[in-house]
Amino acid sequence: MTDMKQQRYDVVIVGGGAAGLSGALTLARARRSVLVIDAGEPRNAPASHVHNYLGRESTPPGELLAIGRGEVAGYGGEIVEGRVASAERLPGEGEDGFRVVMEGGSTVEARRLLVTTGLVDELPPVPGLAERWGREVLHCPYCHGREVADRPIGVLSTGPLAVHQALMWRQWSDDVTLFRHTGPEPTDEEYEQLAARGVAVVDGEVSGLEVTDDRFTGVRLAGGRVVPREALVIQARFTARSAVLESLGLVPVAQEMGGEVIGTYIPTDPVGATEVPGVWAAGNVTRLTEQVIGAAAAGLMAAGAINGDLIAEDTRTAVEARRRG
Ligand SMILES: Cc1cc2nc3c(=O)[nH]c(=O)nc-3n(C[C@H](O)[C@H](O)[C@H](O)COP(=O)(O)OP(=O)(O)OC[C@H]3O[C@@H](n4cnc5c(N)ncnc54)[C@H](O)[C@@H]3O)c2cc1C
Repeated sequence: MTDMKQQRYDVVIVGGGAAGLSGALTLARARRSVLVIDAGEPRNAPASHVHNYLGRESTPPGELLAIGRGEVAGYGGEIVEGRVASAERLPGEGEDGFRVVMEGGSTVEARRLLVTTGLVDELPPVPGLAERWGREVLHCPYCHGREVADRPIGVLSTGPLAVHQALMWRQWSDDVTLFRHTGPEPTDEEYEQLAARGVAVVDGEVSGLEVTDDRFTGVRLAGGRVVPREALVIQARFTARSAVLESLGLVPVAQEMGGEVIGTYIPTDPVGATEVPGVWAAGNVTRLTEQVIGAAAAGLMAAGAINGDLIAEDTRTAVEARRRG
């Protein structure tokens, strides 16, 4: 990564994960000047491999991004390390122009913005859980289910979605235990479903995780009892990293699923346009359940829409100039 070469770009992309790099690749290939500013904290960094990315199944997350950065640079796209603090519309430029302010105070200008800053997984406050996140403490069966197939799996209930999670993970193992913890009591119908699928239910709060030789080995209950498990499924709260979009006047909204608020996101139209003209968003900051390949696809779609918007503006400017003679 190098320092930025220009003071003004067609597009500045805030965030260099799958969504941002994919948008940058599309824009660079469309011969737009594009700068990606990335703080280097992709959401799946704790995981050892990326799954379900067709053509790159099981690639380490850092390797996938390094390949993407090389592809962007190959078409002249620029990528710099850094964290954007805020962005603002340049005065008097109508829709066309933003100032992006980095932490530390340096600035760069852009005609359009694409914000792909992802989300933060807020984990339930159980001691020891954060240390195992992405290793044996898991949330997504499509990301990790195959890797823990047929093993003893626990599901930590912190809300009404936990029963759904337990029934889901049962697809990957016939040894699934639902820990009631702080979640609600399952309904009679849910108890029947859990029993029919052979999912055990354990009452009582979970007080911690048992770890032996740097491996998660069991769930410790408040009374001291340990239930041996090799993986623990949790429901994280997905909080959009929306500070930059909020600085432009956008407001995150709550997303519900199965009677539970699972997080916050910034709404966009289907191709990523936000309510602020000239500003697009893609990836987890706007779709909380998006996987890597979906985030990359969203970055591509937003980039296409941004390029179309710039073409329309370039055409308007050319027509005005032609009329002026
Ligand atoms: C443990 C775990 C394992 C996962 N495994 C898989 C899997 O196997 N397969 C799969 O498809 N999905 C997986 N996912 C989901 C995957 O992580 C997301 O789908 C993907 O990261 C979304 O891409 P994104 O570009 O939207 O955000 P991210 O990848 O999170 O990238 C956002 C980038 O923006 C940067 N950023 C944030 N704020 C700023 C700022 N202010 N200024 C500059 N840069 C900023 C961040 O540092 C980061 O680099 C997993 C998730 C987790 C938590």
